[in-house]
Amino acid sequence: LQGKGIVNSISLKEGEEEFLRHARLVRRYGAAVVVMAFDEAGQADTAARKIEICKRAYDLLVTQVGFPPEDIIFDPNVFAVATGIEEHNNYAVDFIEATRWIKEHLPHAKVSGGISNLSFSFRGNTGIRESMHSVFLYHAIQAGLDMGIVNAGQLAVYSEIPDDVRERVEDVVLNRRPDASDRLLEIADTVESQGGGSGPNNAWRDLPIRERLTYALVRGNDEFITDDVEEMRLQSEKPLHVIEGPLMAGMNAVGDLFGQGKMFLPQVVKSARVMKKAVAHLLPFLESEADGKVKSSGRILMATVKGDVHDIGKNIVSVVLRCNNYEVIDLGVMVPMSTILQKAKEYNVDVIGLSGLITPSLDEMVRISKEMKRLDLDVPLLIGGATTSKVHTAVKLSPEYPNVLYVQDASRAVGVLSSLLGEQRMPTLQSAQGQYADIRQKRAGRTRRKLSSIEQARLNGLSIDFVADPPVEPTHTGTWTLSVSVETLVPFIDWTPFFQSWELAGRFPNILSDSVVGREASMLFNDAQTMMQKMAAEKWVQPQARFAIVPAHRDGDDVVCFSDESRTEETVRFQMLRQQNQKKHTRNLSLADFIAPTGTQDWMGAFCVTVGSVDDRAKQMVAELDDYSAIMLKALADRLAEAFAEYLHQQVRQVYWGYEQVNPFDNESLIQEAYQGIRPAPGYPACPDHSQKQTLFEWLHIPGSIGVNLTESMAMIPASSVSGWYFAHPQSRYFGVGKVNDSQLEDYARRRGWTLEESLVWLGNNYDG
Ligand code: SAH
Repeated sequence: LQGKGIVNSISLKEGEEEFLRHARLVRRYGAAVVVMAFDEAGQADTAARKIEICKRAYDLLVTQVGFPPEDIIFDPNVFAVATGIEEHNNYAVDFIEATRWIKEHLPHAKVSGGISNLSFSFRGNTGIRESMHSVFLYHAIQAGLDMGIVNAGQLAVYSEIPDDVRERVEDVVLNRRPDASDRLLEIADTVESQGGGSGPNNAWRDLPIRERLTYALVRGNDEFITDDVEEMRLQSEKPLHVIEGPLMAGMNAVGDLFGQGKMFLPQVVKSARVMKKAVAHLLPFLESEADGKVKSSGRILMATVKGDVHDIGKNIVSVVLRCNNYEVIDLGVMVPMSTILQKAKEYNVDVIGLSGLITPSLDEMVRISKEMKRLDLDVPLLIGGATTSKVHTAVKLSPEYPNVLYVQDASRAVGVLSSLLGEQRMPTLQSAQGQYADIRQKRAGRTRRKLSSIEQARLNGLSIDFVADPPVEPTHTGTWTLSVSVETLVPFIDWTPFFQSWELAGRFPNILSDSVVGREASMLFNDAQTMMQKMAAEKWVQPQARFAIVPAHRDGDDVVCFSDESRTEETVRFQMLRQQNQKKHTRNLSLADFIAPTGTQDWMGAFCVTVGSVDDRAKQMVAELDDYSAIMLKALADRLAEAFAEYLHQQVRQVYWGYEQVNPFDNESLIQEAYQGIRPAPGYPACPDHSQKQTLFEWLHIPGSIGVNLTESMAMIPASSVSGWYFAHPQSRYFGVGKVNDSQLEDYARRRGWTLEESLVWLGNNYDG
């Protein structure tokens, strides 16, 4: 055998002795083994029976034979459902449940199944059978199924099963309603087969060449694109005509569908990938021709501003613009103002687009606007990114540089650009200026909420009765470094923001069956699962954490940390800010309120988690013309970083600080942060001073231990990192500091050892000046 044998199969059907004899033989041949869920009493049908037999077999194999558990493959029996016999209805669920249990409780063992048994009652109806297999595999794989036996040519793509069919198939497979079989039978004759190389699914291959190109672009299918482009090229007078003709026509179709809301961003990015590959094939032919220049609709420079490292949104915009035939000069992240302006001049661009995610980037945009005004430029400036807003553009940027425009999301970029580059340029800019002036006027005229002085605000602070409601004493104090696997983090992922980054609106998991974006969301989610599995298996990232729990007490609005329980040596001090809004019935909160003053022992924690950098791999993907995967990778890395923060917080609550019982929260309640204690992040509303990260990073030696660094704007590099503090007191909660005035600014500057100007740099966005 070239490779490893697998014996299919042994079981406990004839008792333990015979089972062990078989197992020892298999072991002697060095083979792995499939163990059927059979015992002396027969085959296991319910989840409980499957689990009982597999557990027994596992224990026998591992303890009596010394069988390597990774060489054990359980087959917990796939039986036919929808047979008309009620007892059979739960068979698929039983299999899936048993699979989940085995993967959780029998370390390293694999699970397999003979899939087509499932649909036995639909013999002859290939369409239904394919759909049932796909739906079943979809759920079983999520439960941990490692392998299965199925006719691979006869599988439907889960996300391409029409919604109504999928729902009915899913009702059967997941045993969701008593009339599920009947309802599936009702539509059985209408379901078409997707599978098979020459089946109906590939019917588009018989279309005329131009239509094939359009199909490939609209579907984002790059399987045949090189051959098709070559065929088109041979028929064309010049290679350039292929781009200007059928390829542009295809991309226009994509643009139209997108504009009509019939196509969504992920699909557009996939179409762009097809376009890129098509053009790449033509490139060598173009270069040999004098007139090899494709006329672009306009040239735009894109950059994430200095100090900021986030570029998912910017990259999506770049891709979308490129496939609408704009020439995009993308300068990447952390781009200094001088570079932006110099390149804009050098390339004589029609538009400049700036992006930023963290609040200090807002000020950088102000500086750039001022400089553009000083240089007397009039090139339109587009603004986008998470913390930017119409109000910020109106209030802070537009007075500095009139030709500025806020672009709310990637899907509007094309519309904005086409109006800016055509005859509508002046009216577009003027109407924006009018709108921004309105916003400024409204804001100037609004009645401001009154602020208390910082002294008054302190008097109205939250004073926890730490005697009645004492601080939670940690099981452990200290500083730790931790590495975990991607697999550990996956269950902690909050998927909703993942869909947001692709501009698909809705909450996970409902979004997968949403009537508008469900299909697209499912495809995106499938692609994400595939990549995530690779990230885990091939160790694309190395998630690492550095965190501490230390003795602390409160000193005014500062939180002071100590080296040990003697509380004599101060190791670090964090200055907290306090709400100054005048309040009648509620308190003026500061994070410092959640920590006890001297006299009562208390503690605080801090952390930084990172999954490491995926930049090189993303660059590699772009070099291979696959922007879709590059963007996906960054989005997933961000998800993992947030999941890591959630996971570590749980570890801290349950193990290190140790105040929470094990496992009371499911993913949903974790996302809701229903637990006791918070992990506020410097730069966010309860503690808006990003520069506190610097203190935190130096204190815990974050750069030296896990390799996370800070930019001059306090963005973390690698971008997929999260940091913050831990507060454990049951009364601690998130809030927003809101506006602060001179009294607090001066007080804070003094506590920080800063000048007023320095305070304004970091608190400018909160300053009520
Ligand atoms: N499940 C989300 C978690 C991130 S948002 C995701 O995967 O993206 C929630 C986090 O933002 C909190 O855990 C906290 O670290 C931070 N946060 C939220 N509100 C905050 C506030 N008012 N002040 C400081 N940090 C806050």
